[in-house]
Amino acid sequence: MTPDEFRKNAHELVEWMASYMENVESFPVKSAVKPGEIFNKIPDKPPRKSESFSNFIRDLDEIIMPGITHWQSPDFFAYFPANTSPPSILAEMIIATLGAQCMNWETSPAAAELEEKMMIWLRDMIGLPANFEGVIQDTASTATLSAILTAREKATAFTSNNEGLNAGRILRVYCSEQAHSSIEKGVRISGIGKRNLVKIPVSEDFSMDPEKLKEAIEADKKNGFLPCCVIATIGTTGTTAVDPLKPIGEICSENHIWLHVDAAMAGTALILPEFQWMLFGREYIDSFVFNPHKWMFTNFDCTAFFTKDAESLIRTFEILPEYLKTRTRGQVNDYRDWGIPLGRRFRALKLWSVIRSFGTEGLQEKVRQHIQFAANLKGLILKEKDFEILAPVVINVVCFRYAPAGCDEKKINILNEKLNHLLNDSGKIYLSHTVINGKYTLRMVTGQTNVTFSHVEKAWALILQTARRLKG
Ligand SMILES: *Cc1c(COP(=O)(O)O)cnc(C)c1O
Repeated sequence: MTPDEFRKNAHELVEWMASYMENVESFPVKSAVKPGEIFNKIPDKPPRKSESFSNFIRDLDEIIMPGITHWQSPDFFAYFPANTSPPSILAEMIIATLGAQCMNWETSPAAAELEEKMMIWLRDMIGLPANFEGVIQDTASTATLSAILTAREKATAFTSNNEGLNAGRILRVYCSEQAHSSIEKGVRISGIGKRNLVKIPVSEDFSMDPEKLKEAIEADKKNGFLPCCVIATIGTTGTTAVDPLKPIGEICSENHIWLHVDAAMAGTALILPEFQWMLFGREYIDSFVFNPHKWMFTNFDCTAFFTKDAESLIRTFEILPEYLKTRTRGQVNDYRDWGIPLGRRFRALKLWSVIRSFGTEGLQEKVRQHIQFAANLKGLILKEKDFEILAPVVINVVCFRYAPAGCDEKKINILNEKLNHLLNDSGKIYLSHTVINGKYTLRMVTGQTNVTFSHVEKAWALILQTARRLKG
């Protein structure tokens, strides 16, 4: 493809992109294809000769689009959002055009220095203390693994990278019963081992019970284990519960345990002064992760990882073969030493574009609206006697179920599972579920970039109607 052909194709593609954005609501939110359906439509062999871009776009529409679930539809209420926005997409086009590998400062100084500045912007926007430094990573899973590995190194006086974990005391990691599965994955692959992940019981609001944490750590110490890392969650995936950082942090500080905070989705709410309470106890945090690629309108991937001990992080990950030695080492940030992969995309550009396009006030306004929608939805649900709210509505997630009179728990679970599938199969909205205290729970997340309250009301009307038809 020559630059001239590129220009023509790209103009047409931008038309395709804009019209997708305008028409996204006309697609079934959740793809209805069967397993294998797309695979079987794609030729078994690659083409031997060059094909036109217009053929490619034709197949995109005919083969691929039916197999897409529309995360950017305002009728998408499932999981957590994975939002994008026009300024993010535009920056992503530039990132792909430049195709820079941003592993060292020298391999693109602008990328390293913009990243450093964006992490300062974000740190200040969410209210982390000024002694925190940040780095962009691909996912919260990777950032949490990086935190666990750093904590492991620190707890073993920086010997485990060299010696392996065989020699020393058995390490222990703690998180709440409601914590994300990425923590268990991190503990498994860090060599610490799943059996050394201690899941702490939660209080009534599904947040970690600090007393139980204290008891678990004391018991472990008595039994000769070495507590190494506590992972607190701000905004659990099931119900957006917020673990109390202050009492947890005090316990960590007394016992010299690394405190990592997983705020993957809810971290964005910290840009609102009225949600700064979630960071109460921030002085105890050693590392912190949140995903602008979830609720901050920056398309995947873009994870912000902060630590006040960058020295230990770098000491854990630094490796310096001859071919990576540069003359600027020590004067600048070589972000390849701040995480697992060597190669890095120029993701800071997306953040710069998004934050400048929305402005911090524009971001606050959108996030505040989403939180208000959830509160309003809770109000609508509470008006219906045959529905129940199953967890506190803290941010942008409402957990509820249909519970008509005269049905036992088992029947209610079956009804709600059916309801969930009927709603999703309708293509009109997409919800996902969790299980709370044995109860099949519908989760509705009001955080999609373009969701308005009328989308929420329309979804609620559909849920009511579908539920009652199901019962009758
Ligand atoms: C989404 C989520 C994760 C995982 O995020 P990835 O970036 O996909 O790895 C981890 N923790 C919490 C609380 C989450 O909501």
